[in-house]
Amino acid sequence: MQLISCPFCGLRDETEFRFGAEAGKRRGTASSSAEEWANYLYFQGNPKGQTREIWVHLACGEFFMLERDSMTHEIHQSYCIRKEDQK
Ligand SMILES: [Zn+2]
Repeated sequence: MQLISCPFCGLRDETEFRFGAEAGKRRGTASSSAEEWANYLYFQGNPKGQTREIWVHLACGEFFMLERDSMTHEIHQSYCIRKEDQK
């Protein structure tokens, strides 16, 4: 069992969280090719080592940034990604 810190609720069991998306992944535009859309929708970079990902805490429904090491599972930090909370 691993504990993950939700920026809104504090430390909680990993079973309360779900992966949302890779941070910084750019959505296509109306002029994007079918291949570009397929890459956006179906492929993940799955980097080895330091990662920045968007996760959701299912208990409160908030999305947040999680920085972790994909090899060691060590969590470095988690923080809010809502602009109104970053003032
Ligand atoms: Zn929460």
